Formats: sequence, structure tokens, C-alpha cells
Amino acid sequence: MIPFLFGIRTIKIQRQAFRHDLCLNCKKAAYSTLTRSMTFGAVLFIPVLPLGIRTKWLCDECGENPHSLKRTRLPFKFAGLIILAITMWASFQDTERGSDPTVDGVFRVIIAGLILFTLFSIRKHSAAPDWQQEYSKSGVSRLPPDLQCPYCRVNLQLEEGKIKCPACKLVRSEISDTETP
Ligand SMILES: [Zn+2]
Ligand SMILES: [Zn+2]
Repeated sequence: MIPFLFGIRTIKIQRQAFRHDLCLNCKKAAYSTLTRSMTFGAVLFIPVLPLGIRTKWLCDECGENPHSLKRTRLPFKFAGLIILAITMWASFQDTERGSDPTVDGVFRVIIAGLILFTLFSIRKHSAAPDWQQEYSKSGVSRLPPDLQCPYCRVNLQLEEGKIKCPACKLVRSEISDTETP
């Protein structure tokens, strides 16, 4: 009940810049957008308590940080493994008469499958791709800079020393620009 009552909501306020990027989550080249967003404490999905403003590069395709893989954290995977192991152990402790051996068998096969999947996922965890390495392999850095705004399809213009879209005011940026333009 509680999670439905109280939560955190993030509302995008403004997009500031765009750039060619490589998204680890989408596993491909995609535009990312420097986005200012405000975090609120929410009650019944209605934002009520402002918690802060953050500006982050987000992938246009998936909306995540393109440079880090969104995934379940390792302690959660270990916790899942322990729960699955206990469930498996418990299934052998059930001495109740009349339980269907076929149902028990199917249940144990499913649990065993989930255990194997979790073990595999834990093993794979450390081998997460390094963004810098993937980026240098990708050839995204060799893409020609945009002359048109990829969203408005109008020619970019030089304005106050920055290359901007005259329509949406987004600044053309590059990977090397780690700071807000
Ligand atoms: Zn993405
Ligand atoms: Zn534009």
C-alpha cells in the first residue's frame, strides 16, 4: 500500500543541449540530450515536495544515462539467490501427504532455472562494458557534426559563441564537453 501512496517523481523542466552519443543501454549510437529535471516527493503520484534540480545527459532513445548500464545492483542479486535457495530447500521439507509430485517437479525445475539465471547474471556482472572502450570502438566520434537541428530540421546558427538551433534553442554539444554548455 505504502509505495502507491508515497513515491519520487522526476519532471523534466528543460532540454539544454544535444550531442551524438553512444548508449550502453541501447547498445548503439544515439543522440543524448542535456536535460534539467526536478525531483519531487509525490503522494498518490501527485508531486508535492520539491527535492532538487539536476542536469544530466539522457539518451533520447531510452531516457537513461547513456554512459552507465542500468541494471540490478549486485547485493540485490545475491539477496535473490538466497531467497531462491531457501525456496528450493523448503520445497524438499514439505512432507505433506498428497502433494502432486509432478507439480513439485515443475516447481523445482523453475526454481533451479531461476538460480542458474541469477548465478549467470552475477558472473556476468563484473564484465560490464566500459563506456570509454565501447565509445572508441564505435566510431561515434567520427560522425560529422550536425548542421541541422535533429529535432527541428532547421539550420543551426552561431549565437553568443555557441552553435544553437534557432527554433528550440538547444546547443550542439560534444562528448568532450562534460560541463553544462
Ligand atoms: Zn539508450
Ligand atoms: Zn531545434
